[in-house]
Amino acid sequence: MTRVLLVGGGLTSAVTGALLRRELPNAELVLWDKARGAGGRMSTSRSPHDSSCLADLGAQYISATPEYAELHASYYGDLVRDGVLTPLTSKVVGMRGNEATKHYVTPSGISSIVKYFMKEANVTTKYEHHVRSVDASEGGRWRVITQSGTEDTFDAVILTMPVPQILGLSGTVKEIIDSDEKLHSNLQSVDYSSRYALGLFYDSGAQVQLPEGAAAQYVTDDPVVRFVALDHRKRGADSAAPAVVMHTSVPFGKAHVEETPDQVKPLLLSSVSEMFPDWPEPKAVKCQKWRFSQVTSAFPGLPGSVSLGRGLVIGGDGFTHSNMDGCIESAEAVAAAVVQYVCSRWKSDYKLRLCISI
Ligand code: FAD
Repeated sequence: MTRVLLVGGGLTSAVTGALLRRELPNAELVLWDKARGAGGRMSTSRSPHDSSCLADLGAQYISATPEYAELHASYYGDLVRDGVLTPLTSKVVGMRGNEATKHYVTPSGISSIVKYFMKEANVTTKYEHHVRSVDASEGGRWRVITQSGTEDTFDAVILTMPVPQILGLSGTVKEIIDSDEKLHSNLQSVDYSSRYALGLFYDSGAQVQLPEGAAAQYVTDDPVVRFVALDHRKRGADSAAPAVVMHTSVPFGKAHVEETPDQVKPLLLSSVSEMFPDWPEPKAVKCQKWRFSQVTSAFPGLPGSVSLGRGLVIGGDGFTHSNMDGCIESAEAVAAAVVQYVCSRWKSDYKLRLCISI
């Protein structure tokens, strides 16, 4: 049986897994992530006091331009039909962009999108598996080792973490990248903004409001705060215990990127209480650093994925752009590369649409 390892528990990996499950129904799909749960930059945090009090500390909305709504109609159709996405109906002050763009929210938190595709992929997930090295092994396979020493071998390996984290891996993967000057410089040119996010979790009934009855607002005149959302209201869960999400500005994130969340948290809390002096004390607070937040400079040519040979494929939003459509584009490119490799390697008679078209 073909064994495929997906490294990364974010949206690119989850959609790749779902596509591979359709194209390689008998393959064993395994997913490792260094984090403690699914989502990556589409993660959802819960109050330690109330598991129904949710805050999305990374991605906030799914925004479909008319072009992507058409191109990815089947993905949007499935997610809306199954209640994972619902149209954004609450007021967001200062949201920019094309008026024809449709915005969606996730009633169960943004990580529910990633979990939806993981379920479709029927993938075996292992969290707290921080991959350290990927090495060529006997029989054309790959030996993958985690920081804690867990190791296993796979026929194909997919890496979907932010590009600087791919460049931090050791073993044959590093040798392949270092031996190709153009590839190495293209990978090094991929850049991301950095931000901090603050999640404030309140008791049920706490009075936390934004001006104009808004569920969220973009802030343009503050050096620290860029975005504030009443996460429960944004998701249409007005009766849930309130949760607030605050994102910092990119300049603030850049200036403090080498600090720890614990060091930055007091600065963020004081900015929020200056801006909203009437808000009560939160019951719990979570501060998250997004060192690699959104892609500011993608891999040249936006290929979606790059094949490093022998079924080792890299992808993620660094090869497209930072949103759901970018992840889907990358996942489609990654899955096509893996299917092509598996088909050519085993000379099997899978009757696959992708295989036939290649
Ligand atoms: P990731 O989600 O980063 O997944 C990569 C995974 O790899 C992570 O789970 C990580 O833990 C894991 N990993 C890394 N290194 C290793 C290793 N060595 N071993 C094992 N696992 C590893 N998008 C939108 O559509 N709408 C928005 O409103 C929006 N707002 C955003 C706001 C913020 C603050 C941020 C940070 C992002 C936002 N985005 C938004 C962008 C969106 O979240 C990303 O484009 C998308 O989540 C990227 O998914 P991915 O799977 O490519 O990467």
